Amino acid sequence: MQKLSVQVVVVGGGATGTGILRDLAMRGISALLVEQGDLAHGTSSRFHGLLHSGCRYAVKDPAAARECIEENMILRRIAPNCVEITGGLFVQLPEDDPAYAEEWESACRQAGIEVEEVDPAAVRRQNPALSPRITRAFAVPDCAVDGFRVVWSNLHSARRYGARALTYTRLKAIEQQNSCITGVRAENVLTGEQYHIECQVLINAAGPWAGEVAALAGLEVGVIKDKGTLIAFNHRLVQQVVNRLRPPGDGDIFVPHGPITILGTTSLPVENPADNRPQQKEVLDLLAIGREIIPDLDEYRLIRTFAGVRPLYQEVPLAGSGRSVSRNYALLDHQQRDGLAGLISIVGGKFTTFRLMAEKAADLAAGKLGISRPCRTAGEPLFDPLPPEWLERGRKVFGVAAAHKAAERLGDDFAAVVARAEQNPEQARILCECELVSQAEVEQALAADTTFTLGDVRRKTRLGMGTCQGTFCSYRSLGILSRYPRFAADHRQYLADFLQKRWKGMRPVLWGQQLREAQLSTAIYSALFGMERML
Ligand SMILES: Cc1cc2nc3c(=O)[nH]c(=O)nc-3n(C[C@H](O)[C@H](O)[C@H](O)COP(=O)(O)OP(=O)(O)OC[C@H]3O[C@@H](n4cnc5c(N)ncnc54)[C@H](O)[C@@H]3O)c2cc1C
Repeated sequence: MQKLSVQVVVVGGGATGTGILRDLAMRGISALLVEQGDLAHGTSSRFHGLLHSGCRYAVKDPAAARECIEENMILRRIAPNCVEITGGLFVQLPEDDPAYAEEWESACRQAGIEVEEVDPAAVRRQNPALSPRITRAFAVPDCAVDGFRVVWSNLHSARRYGARALTYTRLKAIEQQNSCITGVRAENVLTGEQYHIECQVLINAAGPWAGEVAALAGLEVGVIKDKGTLIAFNHRLVQQVVNRLRPPGDGDIFVPHGPITILGTTSLPVENPADNRPQQKEVLDLLAIGREIIPDLDEYRLIRTFAGVRPLYQEVPLAGSGRSVSRNYALLDHQQRDGLAGLISIVGGKFTTFRLMAEKAADLAAGKLGISRPCRTAGEPLFDPLPPEWLERGRKVFGVAAAHKAAERLGDDFAAVVARAEQNPEQARILCECELVSQAEVEQALAADTTFTLGDVRRKTRLGMGTCQGTFCSYRSLGILSRYPRFAADHRQYLADFLQKRWKGMRPVLWGQQLREAQLSTAIYSALFGMERML
């Protein structure tokens, strides 16, 4: 059993938990994060990737809309390499209520969001895939955001301030004495190693699992688990984020991310926070609604589908649609609420407002520890700017396009990856052509103490996330994987697990071009490599 002692333990390695860790560390508070999977294992990697302008919430929840636009502007400033400033559009079709557009426009302006009516013909010239039936269009400051990158950047920054994180480590028990938190017990789910961590404050940032974590302290926190399914297309169908101009509903947002586009989402209550399996019916429903905005949607290849579970807070969970529940967050001081000192829960909210949620939770924790140092996360960038000479050296080893992509992805780690490739020129070769990931980048990820599976490499580097979904880069990585002692014993199992996860997302969209791609993948792995016989 490993014994550790810190002032604050944070449970949950999503945007909220890593944001809290960074905030605490920047205030000089000793903090440790435990995450049951890899970072961004939960909802923070299973969402649209829309950095909301707030327009979507302006009519129903003006306070949330105001928070979104403020946080949108802050994240653009502190994490420029995590945000693609695409801009957004709200478009109306003839069947949508025209009166809603007036109410919406005035609500956006009142929330301080800049919206500008634009000519639908001009919008279509820039986005020819959009429906010619669009009657009105408004430009808004929506953006695309990379969830993995934000979460990893939070951790990198927090570590620079002395914070620690244990991934694949599940909180198992919460210890208390005289109604005060005294520590937690946790277990490494891969090795079985046990931890006893003493702490004065415990922050529950477990997203859709927040109810389960609170239950370890004998408390009830009402979390509605609301599953949303999304589809990834292998084209950039639109240049801006496109929202339907009507009250928020299913399938009404398209978000472009680099060369792909994400369409979502559905809203279905589930019992289990880990229930993120998309159903084919949800996919068909999404396509039916999406076709109203992009009539030729069926012409494009669907790469995969995936689902996330929204943690929606409601003090007394009621049955019914998640759409009617607020997307706002709740900060629960369990000392005031339940008489248990030292426990804080932060539940609900949106990815867009994670930094603000983290600030509020860290303020409360700091207050409990008698520390008055203020939050600095709104001002200090997540990365130091990359010195231009490193980009130049990167271009020489990886080529211009791959160097730029890697620099965006890697932030502070880029220099180390370039140096690795300079010392070992064979590592400059590209393993994943879709995402332009070099061998040096994969080796850097494999050497990290937070990498335990090929999936962890994928989340750190984007290997296998592009349009071929790992068909070509998985087997190329296998030889490299087997050179690392941590993976050597069972490297074929790592490959099988990786491919299984990719297949899980492809199965509900296996038709047309994607079926052809899947057959190619089957031919390579089953017929050529005899994968079934390998295991
Ligand atoms: C389909 C969908 C689309 C969305 N689209 C958007 C969008 O476009 N823009 C936006 O702003 N928001 C969006 N959201 C909302 C947003 O994704 C979430 O609000 C946000 O990611 C939640 O982050 P979190 O850190 O609070 O939770 P999570 O990311 O779920 O993190 C919680 C973590 O806690 C860990 N954990 C749980 N129990 C334990 C334990 N016992 N021990 C250790 N670790 C534990 C989990 O493994 C998990 O990684 C969307 C949500 C969904 C579902």
